[in-house]
Amino acid sequence: MSGETGAGFLVVHTGSPDETRALGTALGRVLRARGARGAVVALTGPLGAGKTCFVQGLARGLGAGGYVRSPTFILVHHYPGPLPLYHVDLYRIGPSDLDALGLEEIMEGDGVTAIEWAAALPLPADHLSVQFAFETDDAARTLRIGARGERSRRILDELRSCVSSR
Ligand code: ADP
Ligand code: MG
Repeated sequence: MSGETGAGFLVVHTGSPDETRALGTALGRVLRARGARGAVVALTGPLGAGKTCFVQGLARGLGAGGYVRSPTFILVHHYPGPLPLYHVDLYRIGPSDLDALGLEEIMEGDGVTAIEWAAALPLPADHLSVQFAFETDDAARTLRIGARGERSRRILDELRSCVSSR
């Protein structure tokens, strides 16, 4: 795993699914240490880029129980823990169905909400984003992590120091 920073983003190159998971775990630990209730992590990027993989690590770092899989049929998965994880996948959701999910309440709730295909969703002012991209090597990905708002910027700074001290 290698990281670089620029323009307020943290850019990390991962060379395997485990490295992507480890980055998710690092973020989960920071969120848990801060008791970051109501934190929102928006995940964007093409199918197979590693969003779910990242959320598996996130769950581990949060101490949220259960094995994380793609929320394909159930659109919101809840993983209980000291800081519960709500894992949402909006891939198949049309804008008209969004309201029925009650995501606003979930995002303001007691846990951390990670949302795949979040582009269609109005996000709270304070949130983290992770943009996934493929690289030429099949097992390599680029993750571009950004933060909006005071709390998320602090969280990102802390994650940055975890990544650079690795
Ligand atoms: P998404 O949720 O973005 O559709 P998934 O996390 O479900 O993607 O799947 C990512 C796929 O890519 C998995 O099959 C995983 O094994 C593979 N993969 C290969 N290299 C990486 C990497 N560096 N990071 C994450 N996943 C990777
Ligand atoms: Mg997925």
